[in-house]
Amino acid sequence: MGKIIAIANQKGGVGKTTTSVNLSACLAYIGKKVLLVDIDPQGNATSGTGIEKAEVEQCIYDVLVDDVEARLVVKPTAVENLAIIPATIQLAGAEIELVPTISREVRLKRALEALKDNYDYIIIDCPPSLGLLTINALTASDAVLIPVQCEYYALEGLSQLLNTVRLVQKHLNTELMIEGVLLTMLDARTNLGIQVIDEVKKYFQDKVYNTIIPRNIRLSEAPSHGEPIIIYDPKSRGAEVYLDLAKEVEGHG
Ligand code: ADP
Ligand code: MG
Repeated sequence: MGKIIAIANQKGGVGKTTTSVNLSACLAYIGKKVLLVDIDPQGNATSGTGIEKAEVEQCIYDVLVDDVEARLVVKPTAVENLAIIPATIQLAGAEIELVPTISREVRLKRALEALKDNYDYIIIDCPPSLGLLTINALTASDAVLIPVQCEYYALEGLSQLLNTVRLVQKHLNTELMIEGVLLTMLDARTNLGIQVIDEVKKYFQDKVYNTIIPRNIRLSEAPSHGEPIIIYDPKSRGAEVYLDLAKEVEGHG
C-alpha cells in the first residue's frame, strides 16, 4: 500500500513545490510508482511537470468540490512511473466553497483512498497557508515533510504549523507522523546557513534529513522548462541531492 506524504509549510518560497516535484520524480527514477497531487491553486507543481494548465479539463478542484473520482483526473507525465493530479486557478475558490459542505476536511483522504494501492508514494504539494486545503492534505497523509529554508527566521511560523499538525492528529488523523524536516536553499558561502542548520537540528533533532538541499541555479531553471531536475539536468548538484533525498525517504520505510 502506498505511503502518502504532504509537503507543507505555510510560508511561501521555502521549496515546497521544488521538493514535491523533484522528490516525486526521483522516487519514480529509482523505480517507485508515484502520484504527485497538486493542491496549490497556483499550480506550480502542475506546470513544473510539463502539464499545460490551459489544457487541463478537470483538476483536483473537481475531485474536492464536485466528487469526481480521482482516477479520472490523473494525468501521465513525461517521467516514467510519475503521474499527477493537476491543479488550476479554479482551485482558488475551493477553500471557500468547501466551508459549508459535509466532511469538508476528509474529502482528499476519501478521494485518495481508492488510489492508494496503485502507487508506492503519493506526494501532496500544499499551498502556502494552513487553510482547508492544507488540512485536507494533512488528514489524507501518513506523514508530513516540512521544508525549511536556510535563512534568518527559519523557525518562525513553525510552531503554528506544528500546532496544526497536533490538531489534525487529535481530531482528524491519529496516524499522522512527521516524516522529516528538510533544510533547503543552503548558501554554503555564508555562516548564516551553518547557524540555521544548528538551530533547526537543536529543535527537531533526528527528524532533520541528512540530505540538505543547496541553492542550485539549475533547480530554479527547471520549472520553466516543465521538467523535474532529473530530466532537465541529471548531472547537476540539484539532481544529485534530490536523488539522495529520495533514497533517504525510501529508507525510512
Ligand atoms: P514554495 O512552493 O514553498 O512556495 P518553491 O519550491 O516554489 O517554494 O521555491 C521558491 C522559489 O525558489 C522558486 O522560484 C524555486 O525555483 C526557487 N528554488 C527552490 N529551491 C531552490 C534551490 N535549492 N536552489 C535555487 N532555487 C530554488
Ligand atoms: Mg509552491
